[in-house]
Amino acid sequence: MDERFKRLVLASSNPGKLGEFKALLAPLGIALSSQAEHGVTEASEPYATFLENALEKARHASLATGQAALGDDSGLCVDVLGGAPGVHSARYAGEPRSDERNNQRLVAELASLGPRTAHYYCVLVAVRHRDDPEPMVAEGRWDGEVVLVPRGRGGFGYDPYFYLPAEGCTAAELAPERKNLLSHRAQALRRLLARLGAA
Ligand code: IMP
Repeated sequence: MDERFKRLVLASSNPGKLGEFKALLAPLGIALSSQAEHGVTEASEPYATFLENALEKARHASLATGQAALGDDSGLCVDVLGGAPGVHSARYAGEPRSDERNNQRLVAELASLGPRTAHYYCVLVAVRHRDDPEPMVAEGRWDGEVVLVPRGRGGFGYDPYFYLPAEGCTAAELAPERKNLLSHRAQALRRLLARLGAA
């Protein structure tokens, strides 16, 4: 692995994600810090694709810190809503960002619609430096369906409403270790690590 990737700045200020990534990366000897620890403000996410937003975040954090950076963009895509909330997942109910209001909006929109099949999607982009011409990219997808009554207290965001038929529970009811095995982020990270190892 390129030594520069051993000290990575996570280009996100979401504490839920930082905890998940740290747990996944620590066993591999990769020290992850959050951009907030370096005083880096959040990058804008102006693009229509997860990929472009993740790249923008990684570049922004790498430019500000001078370190290699990991950008992530993720969201919940509901089929019957044409893929919404999608790239707008974090701010689905507008500013200020609120998981509770996002979930309320989602439930209101889906109340009379079906089927409610959905997936979480995550793309990860690692850059060695701001102008890295060869960013490492990986994606993950986690299929489930939205339920209208929340269950569970774990995870974050839409997890209490994201039901996994194969597990018989919502993402918020999964043990953290189980979520870190199955999730869109975990899948993307496994793929990214395989690529980093080969880099
Ligand atoms: P991002 O920080 O722009 O990637 O926003 C991702 C948003 O998607 C979060 O704020 C959540 O609303 C949603 N999201 C992404 N991953 C998850 C997850 O694992 N559980 C619940 N919500 C998620």
